[in-house]
Amino acid sequence: MTNCLFCKIAKKVIPSDIVYEDDHVLAFSDINPQAPQHKLIIPKKHIASLNELTSEDTLLVGQVIQTAKQLATQLGMSEGYRLVSNCGSLAGQSVFHLHFHLLGGRALHWPPG
Ligand code: 5GP
Ligand code: ZN
Repeated sequence: MTNCLFCKIAKKVIPSDIVYEDDHVLAFSDINPQAPQHKLIIPKKHIASLNELTSEDTLLVGQVIQTAKQLATQLGMSEGYRLVSNCGSLAGQSVFHLHFHLLGGRALHWPPG
């Protein structure tokens, strides 16, 4: 997707603070952190949101979530963190390239609102 912000970040057209990368997955710091640790984990493949997932993406989503777990451990958050994907504008999704927020480093409240 040529005009997608996170595709541009994945292709390094737009710089970001990359904390993990492999052939299929990228993780980088959120530009507007909502917690002491706030990373975004994305598939490099353009998928607009959870709603656009197909059965072909099952392994890829697993890799994204495994990356989140590894990052949480590396960042010293295995005691508690949150992994969340906002799906659709009503849920607050503002970038329509599938991403998971990894949040931690402080006590997190529930429900998030
Ligand atoms: P959403 O609102 O779609 O769930 O999350 C999008 C996230 O992307 C927001 O937390 C926002 O701060 C982050 N974001 C928006 N633009 C940029 C950017 O240019 N670079 C980085 N690193 N994060 C961004
Ligand atoms: Zn994209």
